[in-house]
Amino acid sequence: MKKDMICIACPRGCYMTVEVGDNGEFVSVTGNTCKRGETYAKTEITNPTRSLTSTVKVIGGAHPVVPVKSASPVPKGLLFECMKEINKAEIKAPVKIGDTVIENILGTGVDIIATNIC
Ligand code: SF4
Repeated sequence: MKKDMICIACPRGCYMTVEVGDNGEFVSVTGNTCKRGETYAKTEITNPTRSLTSTVKVIGGAHPVVPVKSASPVPKGLLFECMKEINKAEIKAPVKIGDTVIENILGTGVDIIATNIC
């Protein structure tokens, strides 16, 4: 089976065609300009992930919310569940850049960290 996708590893956005085996395994890719495209295609077929950005409510801070991000990409299939956890979260001021807001979100091994002060 062939699957078309656009590489999002850099702004060039190469159009790629991925050959997927009968068991859903990565076979080959064409259309990528560099090795990162192949890595992206393999990950997208076997275990797609995405970085997550959002905001979390701050108690007693200079602003009502602080921006946060996932310290590393999380499984794509868990994005909505992760957002539910983030929307429920609160953190007390003061908040520093890099503070862990949610540790090991949904058991993924990924922390949600602050990206600004508050
Ligand atoms: S294949 Fe390489 S050049 Fe093309 S979008 Fe991906 S990272 Fe960028």
